[in-house]
Formats: sequence, structure tokens, C-alpha cells
Amino acid sequence: MLRLGEIPFPEVKRLDEGRRALVILPVGVVEEHGAHLPLGLDSFAAEVYAASAAPHLEEAGYEVVVAPTINYGVARAAIDFPGTLSLEPETLCSMVVEIGRSLARHGLNRLAILNGHRDKQHMKALDDAKEDLLSEKAAQVLLVGFAYDDEVTAACYREGVRQFYRSPRPDREGHGGESETSVALHSFPELVKQEIIGTLDANFDYDVEAFRNETKDYGSISGGRGYFGWPQAATATTGEKLVAVRGKNIAEVILREWGRAKT
Ligand SMILES: [Zn+2]
Repeated sequence: MLRLGEIPFPEVKRLDEGRRALVILPVGVVEEHGAHLPLGLDSFAAEVYAASAAPHLEEAGYEVVVAPTINYGVARAAIDFPGTLSLEPETLCSMVVEIGRSLARHGLNRLAILNGHRDKQHMKALDDAKEDLLSEKAAQVLLVGFAYDDEVTAACYREGVRQFYRSPRPDREGHGGESETSVALHSFPELVKQEIIGTLDANFDYDVEAFRNETKDYGSISGGRGYFGWPQAATATTGEKLVAVRGKNIAEVILREWGRAKT
């Protein structure tokens, strides 16, 4: 796996000539995830899943290139929490289209946008960017991770992970809860306020419809807590399993669309 920001230009020429490059563009956001987790969690998680998916794609013959992460996105539901930042959807869409065009100009025309942030307008903006690039015939583009298409999201994140949950209410686990806390404890524990996790009570009795449909802000539906589910159920071991399974899932979704690299 190569990181585009860390290689010199002749490497990109070689990738272009090799015709087996597959670019992953991680996308996250700056958004509250409860008092125990960092604002950049979705960006970090997208990077973690990219690294976990890469070996499976390499096994299928691709040269995986991870582009620098888009750390900003659309985050209106949590905008009242200190530190949450939001772009307009059009801004995010333009960024992705322009990055995709630039990559394609250098022959890097197989692009998997790997999104770590669940927000309808954010996902729609990424889907619009994908459609724009496809209509320009600039590149082959896929949106994976949290995608606008629910089935893609389920195939990437929910397939095969249910048995890992320790929470008594896995159906109520969401933003900042067991899953995201576990991934953080495994992948970037130094950024987790581990000393307060034991004080965070379970948040199961929230308005699930309002949460899923984003009809109310996170502050009011979580009673100011900013997380949904039970962070205390999280463990680093669960995080390790979630990262492994989701990385494999994401690679499978990509390979289902594009097949193995032609050698
Ligand atoms: Zn998140």
C-alpha cells in the first residue's frame, strides 16, 4: 500500500504505466463523538479501514494507493457541539470531483471513495461527486463505507459483525457507542479519554427514528451526551475484530464491482 502524499512523482508515472493502481480516498469529518472520543474519529476510522482493506485488494492484483484524507465534511446534526465543523454539501462534492479529475489526469482512474461519516447530506454529496465523475467518464468510481446506498453501507459495516457486540442493545448502538469506541480503543487509543468511559451511562432510550433520519439535532436526542449506545461495552479486542471484518467487507464490495486486476 502506498500513500500518495508520501511518494515522489516518478512513482505515480510507474503506477500509471502499470495500469493496476486503485486509489482509495478516505473521507471523514470534524464532529463530536461524545466526551470520550476525538472530533476526527470518522476520518481516522476511514484511514484504518482503508489500511485493513488494502491487503485484500493487493491479493487481487491491485496496487493500492491511499490518497490524503478529506478531513472535512457535512455535519449539521451535531453542529451545536463545540468543535463540530460543517461544509456545504456542494463544497464537499466539488472537492471530490476535482480530486478525482486530477487523479485521472495522471492515469489514476480507479477511485474508491471510502467514507467514515454517516450523514445523509454528506453521503449524498459524495454520491453526487461519484455520478459527476462517472458522467464525465473521467474515472471508474465507487462509494464504499457509509454510502448513500443503504445496501452498500450494510455490506461494508454490518455484515458479519453482530456477534462481536457486548452491548445488551446492539440495535441501539450508534454514533460514539460501542462500535466506534472499540475501533478507537484498538486503532488510536492515545486519543481516547479512557478514564471517563466508566462514567458514561447507556443511552438506549433515544428517538431512533430522529437519529436515523436526522430530523433532530444530536444534542437534543442524546440529552447532551453526544453518543448513542453504551461506550462502556467497548473493548480494543472488539475494535480489532471490527476493523478486520470491515476491511475485508469493503474490499469484497470493491472486488464485486471491479473484479480482479488484469495482469
Ligand atoms: Zn462517527
